[in-house]
Amino acid sequence: MKLKLLTFVLMGLVVVPGIRAEQTTKAVAHRGYWKCEGSAENSLTSLQRAYDAGCWGSELDIWLTADGKLVVNHDPKTLDGLVIEKTDFETVTKSKLKNGETIPSLETYLKAGKELKPMILVLELKTQSTPERNREIAQKVVAMVKAMEMEEQVEYIAFSNLVGTELIRLAPNAKVAYLEGDKTPAQLKELGYTGLDYHLGVLKEHDNWIREAHELGLTVNVWTVNKADDLQYFIDHKADFITTNEPELLLDLLKDAK
Ligand code: MG
Repeated sequence: MKLKLLTFVLMGLVVVPGIRAEQTTKAVAHRGYWKCEGSAENSLTSLQRAYDAGCWGSELDIWLTADGKLVVNHDPKTLDGLVIEKTDFETVTKSKLKNGETIPSLETYLKAGKELKPMILVLELKTQSTPERNREIAQKVVAMVKAMEMEEQVEYIAFSNLVGTELIRLAPNAKVAYLEGDKTPAQLKELGYTGLDYHLGVLKEHDNWIREAHELGLTVNVWTVNKADDLQYFIDHKADFITTNEPELLLDLLKDAK
């Protein structure tokens, strides 16, 4: 009887592989892993900690300085109040993060990330103040990634559709996902995006979008999911990636899901 049951189960796996419903959700540390000793959002420490925790990917935010250089920071201003778009690179990169590190240049950050393969770097290009600067940031980030031969280790995300479509045009083989939440999966597919990366509230409201995106061959990332019940919701709903400030909690839940 037991043998028959086992044979039946094994046949089921062979005939209907989909029935296994393998869990494939991956953890992305939001602005690196910064909720730990000595870390800070978008710091080099947060990148290392994301790797140490075992994250699949680590997200970071990119701005263009007044003199057209790339730096890593979330807010449009530094902690000491400088507007990054209106301040030169040398001054911006002297500004401190909360853990005492200085704001890293994108080049420094990518160099550090390159040592942490196979962890993926999820590059968010922040929306700049003019269309020209939006095109410029897309062009400069793609050029830097190419020059550093890191095309296989990065994915791109943006709130601005102008930035997103520039990235698609400049790096046609790259993975580019849209953040704003105001376009359907079909619209994103039409525009050439490879995925959507939406706020958890948007994906709960449109609870058919994960399935629709997958049917169109798009990936689904969701931000910023921090509570255990929300993390579990998106694991159960088969999000490809979850972006979180609580990567260790997510990784524990993913272990349990296996
Ligand atoms: Mg971000």
